Amino acid sequence: MSIDNLPPAIQHWIGGESVDSADGRTFPVADPVTNTPYANAAAGGSADVERAVSAAGSAFPAWSSLGNRDRANILNRIADAIEARHERLASFESYDTGLPITQARGQARRAAENFRYFADVIVALGEEAFRQGDEQFSYVVRRPVGVAGLITPWNTPFMLESWKLAPALASGCTLVLKPAEWTPLSASLWPEIFAEAGVPDGVVNIVHGLGEEAGQALVDHPDVPLISFTGSTDTGRHIIRSSAQHLKTTSMELGGKSPAVVFADADLEAALDSVVFGVFSLNGERCTAGSRVLVERPVYEEFTSRLAERADAVRVGPPSDPATEVGALVHPEHYERVLNYVEIGRKEARLVAGGTRPAHLPDGNYLQPTVFADVSRDARIFQEEIFGPVVAVAAFDDEAEAIELANATQFGLAAYIWTSNLKRGHRIAHAVESGMIWINSHNVRDLRAPFGGVKASGVGREGGAHSIDFYTESKIVHVALGEVHTPRFGAAS
Ligand code: NAD
Repeated sequence: MSIDNLPPAIQHWIGGESVDSADGRTFPVADPVTNTPYANAAAGGSADVERAVSAAGSAFPAWSSLGNRDRANILNRIADAIEARHERLASFESYDTGLPITQARGQARRAAENFRYFADVIVALGEEAFRQGDEQFSYVVRRPVGVAGLITPWNTPFMLESWKLAPALASGCTLVLKPAEWTPLSASLWPEIFAEAGVPDGVVNIVHGLGEEAGQALVDHPDVPLISFTGSTDTGRHIIRSSAQHLKTTSMELGGKSPAVVFADADLEAALDSVVFGVFSLNGERCTAGSRVLVERPVYEEFTSRLAERADAVRVGPPSDPATEVGALVHPEHYERVLNYVEIGRKEARLVAGGTRPAHLPDGNYLQPTVFADVSRDARIFQEEIFGPVVAVAAFDDEAEAIELANATQFGLAAYIWTSNLKRGHRIAHAVESGMIWINSHNVRDLRAPFGGVKASGVGREGGAHSIDFYTESKIVHVALGEVHTPRFGAAS
């Protein structure tokens, strides 16, 4: 597959300039269809992070004191600039990540929408005030935290970057972004987008590089009081430990193994469409994928065999082909990891679909969507996040067992419940341990709603007002309006 306008090299963006690493190091970046390098990216280290944090620190006073309307105007111009590059952005993303082009276009639209949404949020933002009779009144002032550190993963990279950039900028923070090393290509468009939108130099800085080097340097930097992280649970744990040194505020959006619970009384056609889409869209590389399907016994065999049929019929193909439904997995290392889970699954459960590379695709990181049935709760493919087009199916006999199975992993990000009994739908939604639940729907997000997980799926919430809370510190100012009763210590004699 070829693509136009690839940058010859991917550089950092610091203080409004595209620059190489201080020590000149780079790393090769490959596309997942040929697995051959197409560019070298700058490999950032602590010297580069130091420069970026210093540029962000210098830009902070002016950016944080801009009025909300002025910042909102700039955010809207960022959205315009993203939309103006829609096709190039989607094709870069699809080329670099292996996401099907039609789905990459959707992610590009969503990235622009994130900026428009947070522009609206800050213009409408009010602050709290409390009155205690006529005696005292108190009000809250929100101040941006300072230089924010943003660390993002390789699945839907541009959209997830926008999900952090937009609220951080809206709140008045300046920032350093460390994109994922497997997929830095779409982030190479941010500099021209920000420049066109009139974002002042130094407000946004991008340092590419490996997690253990560039990411770690950002987490360890004493002048970065806040880290917003999206990625794997193990890395999240490690970042929380490192952040403790400087008592940083952190937000952790981590892994998942979300259940889709299908009752016999559900609209089974709708449930099937949703289950197939929920686990195989975005190549199954989706934190909220419904990767455990729990089906009530009376419809278990029928539902499982129809799910297998649909999985066999999913069109796996080149990411650039508009007909493709599942593209290439992001990286050979990840592909191997997913294939290894398929081998584990063959020993643990009954393979009913997929499990191999499609015959018409001899090269590239392709896997036919894979379905395992009769998966027991202690199986590794039931417990561990695979992050590919692989789904584990299990039967349950009653509501209590459905809840027990849904909660039987360390994760708690999302859950999907399919039933025509609305009372039961709510009951289960309340009993399932997860941050987000959909009843009779796949993952349709309202940007105002909190986003995040419980247990090993994360700490904290972002989205809507929660994001503004995260990127700002609140300060309460108490004002006496009347006489204050003060015990007069030492005044008795
Ligand atoms: P990862 O944890 O390997 O990497 C994520 C980012 O962290 C990358 O930029 C990486 O370079 C960086 N990093 C790695 N080590 C670091 C360190 N020591 N210090 C600082 N930064 C470091 O995750 P991944 O494989 O890129 O992404 C897949 C994971 O992300 C999956 O588990 C998925 O569920 C999760 N995810 C969660 C959400 C959510 O919202 N909950 C969304 C998308 C992806």
